[in-house]
Amino acid sequence: MEITKIGVIGAGTMGSGIAEVCARGGVGTTVIELDESFLPVARSRIEASLQKAVDRGRLEPSVREAAIEALGFSTELDALGDVDLVIEAVVEDRELKVDLFTRLDRATKPTAILASNTSSIPLTGLGAATERPEQVLGMHFFNPAQVQPLVELVRSAVTAEATLDLVEHFTTTTLDKTVIRCEDRAGFVVNRLLVPFLLQAIELLDTGHTTVADIDRGMKLGCAHPMGPLELCDLIGLDTIENVADVLYVEYRERFHAPPPLLRRMVTAGHLGRKSGKGFYDYD
Ligand code: NAD
Repeated sequence: MEITKIGVIGAGTMGSGIAEVCARGGVGTTVIELDESFLPVARSRIEASLQKAVDRGRLEPSVREAAIEALGFSTELDALGDVDLVIEAVVEDRELKVDLFTRLDRATKPTAILASNTSSIPLTGLGAATERPEQVLGMHFFNPAQVQPLVELVRSAVTAEATLDLVEHFTTTTLDKTVIRCEDRAGFVVNRLLVPFLLQAIELLDTGHTTVADIDRGMKLGCAHPMGPLELCDLIGLDTIENVADVLYVEYRERFHAPPPLLRRMVTAGHLGRKSGKGFYDYD
């Protein structure tokens, strides 16, 4: 089997980047936003990002044109009837994703592979919501997906080796990404190491020992990190970090996975980082 048609569900921060990567790889890519009012935003976000890549000399104008041609948009899961692979990237909510996988199982052809970009929700549970759990896996892209080279491929308790091999081949060749394989444990590899570090930075700020600018400056100049932890929190989205931390805490019961009160208050206030215009920093 070859993967030539893709569906991407959700065109927020991650879904729009993933759809762009797929379209740039030359595969027919159908983007689904279940709420019709989000579709024009999704389309213009992807087209603007493609244009930015051209303007920065990272993409040939002809590839941009071909990518725009390869993209389709819909509000209906039934539009995914002939795709070979679905990559789900809706908001990090377990019940929502389980419901979506149940519906995807009915909407797609039996051979289609169903992947989730979830940062923390167990893939085994998403597979169990379908009649094809051996064709369900995690494809965890990094933010921004059109730039970051890594994808974690997550094996549920029952994902077939053939599914992993096929998706790894597609990811490394068509999408030109590097893959690491992980077991289905909350946080996989990267977030299991990264999220406690981000939470510590928020706690350090919350206890008043230092400032936003100094925390970020400290890690950039002291440890050669390309971004400070609080800048990175704003890029990821504070709601996403809170959700991931909650899942890590439930899985491992470690104090250092518990979301600090400041994070909770900022999410409640709608200060989610770049996507809401305000987080630890202000954005236009
Ligand atoms: P986002 O908030 O930017 O986008 C969420 C998407 O879900 C939007 O397209 C929105 O329209 C859709 N959505 C919201 N409510 C919905 C509903 N009730 N039904 C269907 N669709 C709904 O979120 P994001 O940061 O793109 O995260 C999406 C997924 O990617 C999550 O599973 C997250 O854990 C994962 N992820 C995020 C990052 C990151 O840095 N933000 C990195 C890797 C993985």
